Order: sequence, then C-alpha cells, then structure tokens
Amino acid sequence: MNEVDIKAIQTLLQTPKNIVIIPHKNPDSDAIGSTLALWHYLKNKGQEAIIVAPNDYPEFLKWMPGETEIVKFDTQQEIAEKLIKDANVIFTLDFNDLSRIGEMSGIVSQSDATFIMIDHHQQPADYATHMYSDTKMSSTAEMVYNFITYLGENDAITPEMASCLYSGIMTDTGSFRFSATTSTTHRVIADLMDKGAKNAEIHNAIYDTNSPSKLQLLGCALNNMVVLEAYNTVYITLSKQELLHHDFRKGDTEGFVNYGLSLKGIKFAAIFIENLQEPYIKMSLRSKGDFSVNEFARTHFNGGGHTNAAGGRSNDSMEDTVKNFTEILNAYKNELS
Ligand code: 5GP
Ligand code: MN
Repeated sequence: MNEVDIKAIQTLLQTPKNIVIIPHKNPDSDAIGSTLALWHYLKNKGQEAIIVAPNDYPEFLKWMPGETEIVKFDTQQEIAEKLIKDANVIFTLDFNDLSRIGEMSGIVSQSDATFIMIDHHQQPADYATHMYSDTKMSSTAEMVYNFITYLGENDAITPEMASCLYSGIMTDTGSFRFSATTSTTHRVIADLMDKGAKNAEIHNAIYDTNSPSKLQLLGCALNNMVVLEAYNTVYITLSKQELLHHDFRKGDTEGFVNYGLSLKGIKFAAIFIENLQEPYIKMSLRSKGDFSVNEFARTHFNGGGHTNAAGGRSNDSMEDTVKNFTEILNAYKNELS
C-alpha cells in the first residue's frame, strides 16, 4: 500500500465516521476473518463501524469473536440499506468487483462514500478511492494485518483480532501449504500467535466440526469423480438430489475440490455443484503450477479468482456442463500435458 493512501486513510480515521465493511457473497473464512478483525480494530478506535455481509456463511465460522454483530443483507435488507446509505466510508474486503456482492451491488454502487479496497484477487475493478490490491498476498487477512501495521497500529491487534486473522490466513493458504504462503506469512502467523491466536483451537473449530452427513456427502463426491488422464484433469459432480439426500448445509462442500488435486500428476481439478435455489451450476476450479484457472473461469464460465483457485458458473444442465467442460479442455491440451 502506498504512503499517500496510508496518510489519507490516517487522516480520514482521525475523526468519527460511519463505516461499513463488506465481504463478498457466500463469505469464506478469509472474508469473515478479515472483516471481523478490521471491525474490532475500528470499533476499538471509537469508530461507528459495522459489517454488512451479502448473505449467511457456514456454521464453522460462527465461533469467531464479534460474528453475531454481522448484518446480513439478504435477511435484514432494510437495516442493511440504511447502514449503507448512511456510510461515509466503505471498506470492501476479499473481493475486487462489485458484482461479487450480488444484489447488494445496486445500493453500494450508488454510495458516495470513500471506498477502500483490501484484496488479493486479480484484475481489480476501478471503484475504490484507496486501493490496497496485491495478488501475491496469501490472503486478505494477511493484508489486513499489514494495513493495521502500516497505520502504525500493530500493537492494537487484540487476541480476538489475532484469532480472526489467523483463521483467514490458515484457510486461504490451505493450512500454510499453497505457494502464496511466504516466509513473511509465517512471520505474521507467529506474531498473531504471540498476540493470542490459539492455533490448535482455531484448527479444531474450523476443520473438526464435521457432521456425519457431510462426510457421507464427501464420499458421494469422491465416488462421482472422473479422471481425464489425457488432460491431467479431474472433475467431480454433485447433483441437487445428492445434496438433499445428504442433508446439505452451507459450507459442506468447501474443500472437496482439493481432493481431486491430491491425485498424483493431476494439474487441474474442478467440482460442479447444482445450486439448490436457482437453476445453475456453481463451479470451483483449482490448479497446480502455471495453469491459470482464473483465466479459464473468466473466459468460459463467467467467473474469476486467482491463478490456482477460481470459481465460475454454468447455466446449462449438469450433463451439458460436463460435456462443454470436456470439449473446452481440448484447447488446453498442450498446457495441461
Ligand atoms: P471457491 O471455488 O472457493 O468458491 O472460490 C475460489 C476463488 O475464486 C475465491 O478466491 C473466490 O473469490 C473466487 N471466485 C469464486 N467464484 C467466483 C465467481 O463467480 N467470480 C469471480 N470473479 N471469482 C470467483
Ligand atoms: Mn481470500
């Protein structure tokens, strides 16, 4: 983040403001962890701050300190709209295009608040006054740690904030194993532990609260897995019927796609999941090495993300989506072999 932006934000926060902090739709642990940490920081500074999330998030994030204060746009629309209308500062975290907040984008894009973006995805849109965008960063949580440190406030990181930031970094780095995990990431993690983040408790709260039906759904997903050896690619499907049969809860399929990538020699893994409410298929894409699933999702499936982790959607049936996907792969044969 550049000096000019830091100075401007320091000045901005010297006086009380109405601040709204927004994570992306279907927020994950990085989105919720980073927004909560920033929220604690701003509240502790005496600011009038609130998090407005586009919609709900998985149960395994609901232990995070301050979580009960989050306003959800889809179920608390009136309150959320008033907060957004009254805001003079809006932080957008863990996304870089207003299309990522769904229905909320209408009212947010009309706001004349000062927008501050903190994000690590590629190709940021041009809506923010102050932009801290760095695609090399492991997570938005690591960037919020940096942001607070740049403001000269590292000492203001409380145990609650440390736990939230630890969670975001932990999940976005696949527990510190993805290539975006740097030695600096580990130093940040060490500092967060010194500041009170309890690593074993956090791992347990996020990863070890599975229900039997979730693990059975994983079994079903793995059973459906198809390996396309010619492309070093694997895909998994989950139909509406299969989700309902296994008592699907939000977040249950998170991480499933990574199993495909754990196969020896596989460079590209995809999961196609039928949406329960609307007739479309949500895709999660993961890769190893140089193959950019961000480009793949942007070009073919109306999505985006990072080089090695992206998402998109298809409005076709499952059968046609799989057919289309397999045909598209042909054009990438050289890259993937
Ligand atoms: P996931 O597959 O876990 O939903 O998402 C992986 C990454 O891709 C995340 O960083 C997420 O922000 C991004 N992503 C997922 N779905 C979409 C999408 O529909 N559009 C864009 N632009 N990014 C997405
Ligand atoms: Mn993230």
